[in-house]
Amino acid sequence: MRNATWFAPHPPYAAKGIGCFVEDLDGRQLLDCANNFFSLIHGHAFAPVVEAIRAAAGDGTAFGLPTEKEIALAELIRGRSPRCEQVRFCTSGTEAVMFAIKGARALTGRRALAKFEGAYHGSYDWVEVSLAPEPAAWDDESGNPASIGGSKGVPKHVLQDTVVLPWNDPDRCAAILDKQGSRLAALIIDPVPSRAGMVPVSKKTVEVIHAASEKHGFLIISDEVISFRLSYAGAHPLFGLQPDLITLGKIIGGGLPIGAVAGSARTMSVFDHTQGKPGVALGGTFSANPLAMAAGFSAMTALDEAAIARLNQLGSDLRSEINLSFIEKRIPAQVTGSGSLFRLHLTAKPIADYRSSRCGTPDALRQVHAAALEQGVLLTPNCSGAISTPMEQAHIDDLSTAITRAVADTFA
Ligand code: PLP
Repeated sequence: MRNATWFAPHPPYAAKGIGCFVEDLDGRQLLDCANNFFSLIHGHAFAPVVEAIRAAAGDGTAFGLPTEKEIALAELIRGRSPRCEQVRFCTSGTEAVMFAIKGARALTGRRALAKFEGAYHGSYDWVEVSLAPEPAAWDDESGNPASIGGSKGVPKHVLQDTVVLPWNDPDRCAAILDKQGSRLAALIIDPVPSRAGMVPVSKKTVEVIHAASEKHGFLIISDEVISFRLSYAGAHPLFGLQPDLITLGKIIGGGLPIGAVAGSARTMSVFDHTQGKPGVALGGTFSANPLAMAAGFSAMTALDEAAIARLNQLGSDLRSEINLSFIEKRIPAQVTGSGSLFRLHLTAKPIADYRSSRCGTPDALRQVHAAALEQGVLLTPNCSGAISTPMEQAHIDDLSTAITRAVADTFA
């Protein structure tokens, strides 16, 4: 598992999860903010989800046939956003992104994709472009500062077919889209891109995207694999974004592997291959797996408006508490985020985009990660995290203290 092997002095091995804690093989309990990369919104072993999985497993684990469970989860998602009129399931967020992009290509007859610099959308060649460009690649005045980061093995021609946009820079964004828009099949955007700084998209940027999509006829894909948690209807309505397709994953599977593509019936018809229609093949051996459908239905049912409001409030309190103590202690660091999501940055300079978020060296972040582990707090490797429903105010206070101390120790 690429993300965990470098945890110094050694990665804690998980023995079991209990609510918002992970117990490691040494019997240490860690307050878990990583939540399996934001997929466990109710923490570990949430009783209704465990029961749903148990019951589903007793009925058989995979069929290659439709089940009522997938209809139930699709209807639940459809009930939350009018933009999710139809839903199709796969087994990961990466797959969801790949299928949405293929769908956009099939609908437009074009190949190219636009994405924002540094934004993570899973492990599909096109979205891996500009995942982690180094400062040496930043000076490209062409307006397309693409460099392949994160994963070697992405073919060179993919670079030419991927247009990289600067985050929340509507003027430059408009200029690039004006030049490149007519060759784009789609623009993919995560409204709160975690790896690119976790700064929400600006209203002006959304306006520019809508205008360019209208003018040039490319689709807008809102990648809400993480950010769907931000409101009952997902991230897009919070930011006034009107996507053609929405990609989902993580929390909608209740902790089991899942992905989904959603959109209007008209757009989603591109995946229809019934009655001889040559739809884009959205499928896979374990797509709409009944265990994941049951777990997801149970988890999402428990995630009602009140639960989301509470999570968002705790998240906002946590960010304020930590930022306040950084200011009080004169520590040059800050947390960004939205709703129940947060991300730590080792600078006091404003964080606006991928580039400004890349100021702390990876080594310093690793030290903070390790120092947080020492204090019993598990963050993601890039020092981001999320609130889960089993957390109470006392956990938020502990988190705030532990994270502030971890950063102070690193700067000491
Ligand atoms: N899209 C976004 C915004 C993500 O954050 C992730 C994973 O972190 C993915 C897609 C890929 O999802 P998965 O890891 O399920 O393939």
